[in-house]
Amino acid sequence: MSEILTCSVCGCELDDDFYEAEDKVLCEECYYNETFRCEDCGERFFNNHNYGDDNICLSEACRNEDYYVCTRCERLVYTDDVYWSGDDPYCSDCYEDEDGS
Ligand SMILES: [Zn+2]
Ligand SMILES: [Zn+2]
Ligand SMILES: [Zn+2]
Repeated sequence: MSEILTCSVCGCELDDDFYEAEDKVLCEECYYNETFRCEDCGERFFNNHNYGDDNICLSEACRNEDYYVCTRCERLVYTDDVYWSGDDPYCSDCYEDEDGS
């Protein structure tokens, strides 16, 4: 007995090579058009769950866990690359600027 899988986005029938994102099955086309790869954990999520910015794609959980927003330029900065000025997180560029002047 085998169930017929259908793409959770477009509803087309899927054969053996289906794709997955967020526990849903997708056809190849929807997988590439509708999902992104989180840069942090490498898993696929739907595009409307992208909590990254122009430079990086992130899932909500990874962003909350591992990224800070630079106080000055509002870019996302990976936790290991954050520079702190008191309680304020900065990216390396902005931190140097703040520091230098
Ligand atoms: Zn599809
Ligand atoms: Zn992630
Ligand atoms: Zn910055």
